[in-house]
Amino acid sequence: MARYTGPVCKLCRREGVKLFLKGDRCMSAKCAIERRNTRPGQHGQGRTRKPSGYALQLREKQKVRRMYGVLERQFQRYYDASARRAGKTSENLLQRLEMRLDSVVYRLGFADSRAQARQLVTHGHFQVNGRKTDIPSMILKPGMEVAVRPRSKNLEYFKARALMVTQKGVPGWLRLDANALSGQVLALPARQELELPFDEALVVEYYQR
Ligand code: SF4
Repeated sequence: MARYTGPVCKLCRREGVKLFLKGDRCMSAKCAIERRNTRPGQHGQGRTRKPSGYALQLREKQKVRRMYGVLERQFQRYYDASARRAGKTSENLLQRLEMRLDSVVYRLGFADSRAQARQLVTHGHFQVNGRKTDIPSMILKPGMEVAVRPRSKNLEYFKARALMVTQKGVPGWLRLDANALSGQVLALPARQELELPFDEALVVEYYQR
């Protein structure tokens, strides 16, 4: 289960937008995009050329991939599976990414970022439909239930989360039971429900070249 382990704010600076990879810090004045929104590296502040069509497609693909913490090969597999399914490939792709277990855990408010959600899942704190699951890339389906495992509920972290998640709220395609520290996928998210800083149609164009 390979994952990116380098500096994450650098990824946002490279893309020039907030990818929300660091939880609360992303909402604060400490956010690197707020402090210096320049590309990283020696030539980051240099002249910016007009990007080619290919460059625009590549950057959008990188944004999506980095936001969900997925490496290239797996992202290609997600694209292939989305293209095979009926319906719009771009929407299928986003739904697939949102239905990853780590993304659902993050959306339910059990973690501040997808990276933290991924760690909590791999450390065995969650169960899906009553069975312990430690695979963050597991793709959930409508009707499936995600819950903090009974023995993890006594941890201080999850006791504090029970209060926090009530205040945060969850998107319409999920249901949360804060007291039970559990949630359910009600439906696949529609594109208009997802506030995401990219144009996924360009991602599809990138793979269709
Ligand atoms: Fe990106 Fe968050 Fe870092 Fe800001 S604080 S640059 S949004 S990861």
